[in-house]
Amino acid sequence: MPVILGLAGLLLIALVFGPQVWIRRVLKRHGADRPDLPGTGAELARHLLDEADLQSVQVEKTDLGDHYDPEARAVRLLPQHHDGRSIAAVAVAAHEVSHAVQHARGEPTFARRFHLVSKLVWVERAAIGILLLTPVVFILVKSPVLAVLQVLAAVLVLAIRVLVHIVTLPVELDASFGKALPALMRGRYLAAGDLPAARSVLQAAAFTYVAAALATLLDILRWFR
Ligand SMILES: [Zn+2]
Repeated sequence: MPVILGLAGLLLIALVFGPQVWIRRVLKRHGADRPDLPGTGAELARHLLDEADLQSVQVEKTDLGDHYDPEARAVRLLPQHHDGRSIAAVAVAAHEVSHAVQHARGEPTFARRFHLVSKLVWVERAAIGILLLTPVVFILVKSPVLAVLQVLAAVLVLAIRVLVHIVTLPVELDASFGKALPALMRGRYLAAGDLPAARSVLQAAAFTYVAAALATLLDILRWFR
């Protein structure tokens, strides 16, 4: 029995952390400086945005992870992708620009996703609320069963986040493979030999949110301990 529990635990950790480790490794492997590339991530983003007639969308540097902000209409890139000249920088920049294009074209799947994701703030608040109340309930009722149930409830609430990001994966896959990859190929920004690397970076970019949401689930268990 303990062996099975141990294996189940390992499987859970692999499932929860695996995707994030994979994404980090892909970005690192293809993040090496490539002076032969025509520009940095920010330069390519600017170029692709102008080409799509999106001069009003800004390209900014951030420490909060690569993303497109539909409210500020800004493509934000990590310093190494903003200023870097690497396959990771170029592919991530093209991916984020694709979200700006989805937004500008009023693609319904993008709108639906934006709507759903903006509601996730409440999901997170509910989970934190449940967790903060756990010690209080424990003191009042002195029932460990109830405390465990509360933590499980918080995990279930956060599982909604994972679900939302899985359901909206088509938006991410379209950004990577419906728009970014064709744009990179059309403009010949990368040599044919670099396309497999770009493909894996684009795959990683598409799964970023699912991976992050999965990792939060384990944060809860750590908090509980
Ligand atoms: Zn994306």
